[in-house]
Amino acid sequence: MEITKLDVFLYCSHCQDETLHSVQYLNHKISSTECTNCHRKLDMHLNPKRELYKEIYKRIVTKPTRLTQEYRDDLNKFLGEFPKRALSKPYRLKRYMNETRTALKKFKDGN
Ligand SMILES: [Zn+2]
Repeated sequence: MEITKLDVFLYCSHCQDETLHSVQYLNHKISSTECTNCHRKLDMHLNPKRELYKEIYKRIVTKPTRLTQEYRDDLNKFLGEFPKRALSKPYRLKRYMNETRTALKKFKDGN
């Protein structure tokens, strides 16, 4: 899971003009936009756990069913055990886990 930010010009209903907006994405979905002029913020109220679940589902869909069943049963347990699993790309996996933790933490702290 990954948070990315992009600055784009969008129409702000408060400023009644096109202004530079800071757009935050969670896994390529817009999670919030903020007008950099009046700081009016629009939150899309994405559910980070739901986005994470969908992402993991996509990643694991090709893995054996046992694993699939496990994370369906308990996402948190699955996440806890995830780093211990000897998957084929430990480095990428570690990076992915760190990104995910950071993203979840940011969301808990209110973006
Ligand atoms: Zn504005």
